[in-house]
Amino acid sequence: MQTRRMSERELLDSLEIALQDSHIYPCFQPQFNHSTGRMVGAEALMRWKDPENGMQYPSDFIPLLERNDLLYLADVHIFKMVCVFLRKCLDQGLPLMPISVNMSRYDIYKHEYVDEIEALRIKYDIPVKYLRIEVTESSAIGGMELMKDVISRLHKHGYLVEMDDFGSGYSSLNILKDLNVDIIKLDMKFLCGEVGDRGGIILNSVVQMARWLGTPVITEGVETMEQADFMKSLGCNYIQGYLYSKPLEEPAFIEKIGQIEHEAMTPAMEFINTVDAGKFWDPASMETLIFSNLVGAAAIFTYKDSGEMEVVRVNKKYLREIGMNMTEQETIAIKPWDHFRDDGLKIFTNTIRRAIASGEEESCETWRDICSKSCGDAQICLLTELRVIGTAGNQHLIYAMVHNITKEKELYNEVFNSDRRFRYASEQAKIYAWEYTISTKQMRPCFRCMRDLNLPPLIYNYPEPLIENGVFPPDYADMYREMMRKIDAGVPHIEAIIPLTVGRIPFHVRYTTEFDENGHPLKAYGSATLVVDEQQQTKAATGRRVLYRHPRIRKR
Ligand code: C2E
Ligand code: CA
Ligand code: CA
Repeated sequence: MQTRRMSERELLDSLEIALQDSHIYPCFQPQFNHSTGRMVGAEALMRWKDPENGMQYPSDFIPLLERNDLLYLADVHIFKMVCVFLRKCLDQGLPLMPISVNMSRYDIYKHEYVDEIEALRIKYDIPVKYLRIEVTESSAIGGMELMKDVISRLHKHGYLVEMDDFGSGYSSLNILKDLNVDIIKLDMKFLCGEVGDRGGIILNSVVQMARWLGTPVITEGVETMEQADFMKSLGCNYIQGYLYSKPLEEPAFIEKIGQIEHEAMTPAMEFINTVDAGKFWDPASMETLIFSNLVGAAAIFTYKDSGEMEVVRVNKKYLREIGMNMTEQETIAIKPWDHFRDDGLKIFTNTIRRAIASGEEESCETWRDICSKSCGDAQICLLTELRVIGTAGNQHLIYAMVHNITKEKELYNEVFNSDRRFRYASEQAKIYAWEYTISTKQMRPCFRCMRDLNLPPLIYNYPEPLIENGVFPPDYADMYREMMRKIDAGVPHIEAIIPLTVGRIPFHVRYTTEFDENGHPLKAYGSATLVVDEQQQTKAATGRRVLYRHPRIRKR
């Protein structure tokens, strides 16, 4: 059939017949959960196929009907045809899914609209859960009170109400707070700029706010996998757009619902009384102020009993604590639980389960492999304190305070490893060995030193504690301090015979200094061998000597 764009006059003249003979009818565009690939519903979109002139564009006839106060008739007609469709599904045992029907802002002024659609629903005996009503932000321009009244009447009958084209208007956030809508629809085309830039960040906060309010979000106009994945990374899984499906004529839609599994949208999150959901995302609220400024590094994420987790929000201090120079968005997008090392994930989820069971704060230490654009790969160890702040069905909202304890852990491991290294080396060579870090004046003794001289694994402010406890006899203290000063100043090598311990056993003490690429001294490696041993080296090996045991050096 030839398609010809009809003039406004022609359209208006043929409206009555078009409604009567259903030249005006709904197409169905399926909505999907991008995480599961299942269908969650569909939107009914008005089409006008004229028998002589072919398909007419909604962008031409909808504003025209609107201007002439006739859109109302077409909307009720579409609602009726959706009821007819659902009745057919019920009668033929076809899979059912909620269908969203568009309501024009002019319908709001027609007080009969709600009564009329409700009468149709009852006439066709359709359970109300299969019908949703889409309203637009611009509807509120005519008056918030009118809009509130319509929504509350729809709610009274049990309809879910969706806010269409959210973010296109000027007062989106206020509308969201004031109007009691059940589902938010975002349109990709209202995102100025490319995925990931400022538009993305605004979107991110809108999505998060919606989630915090417990309102599911559907994104429409999703055409690419990149867009869908990006929305998913924000925790927004419901997608409507050409990527999954164009609007389909009824037979094609029936075929589709027969092929694809479907599921219900997840229920909104209920909050336990500790947090006021509405205030949390209000940038001016005390809750936001507290989350951003008064608490330490914190993240909020959801946890399902099945083990699925999603980060909802992190604060600035969290980003700083992780120390990888990432944005909030990047942090949310990397899905921290994909990066646990060893059995970190198991430890973490066990801790969450304990927190759910106890209702108390529970903590754990886990290592993560993190990769950021600016800092590359790093392994960090986080101490996380977890607390449940909300629960809905099998989903929990968890508040996590984190502390980056990587440095402490590394120090511990280093001590542990160097102890092991020295232990093997000294047992082999029958020498006492230690490592002295020039910048920090820390000394790490070998296992033999620790065993024979009863030293702790790390000694601060070396050599003072060893002078204090008599390993270095008092009359040699100044000489030894002088030797250390020379090492601090950068001599590459130094040695001396020094009597050690109260037994004044002579040792040959040697130091070799290690320098950085600029020639600054870093570390000095010390060793001590018994002078008698040296003298007897060519003779038979001596028996093992046990030095006088010293009292423990107190730890710092
Ligand atoms: P809308 O309610 O925002 O509907 C979404 C529009 O986006 C539809 O255009 C749909 O076909 C289109 N769309 C879906 N996926 C994609 C995609 O991936 N990329 C792009 N670029 N577009 C996509 P359509 O069907 O032309 O409808 C246009 C508008 O007309 C609708 O926007 C809605 O405002 C209005 N409309 C449609 N049906 C009805 C109706 O029954 N009643 C009323 N009052 N208005 C309707
Ligand atoms: Ca719509
Ligand atoms: Ca829309």
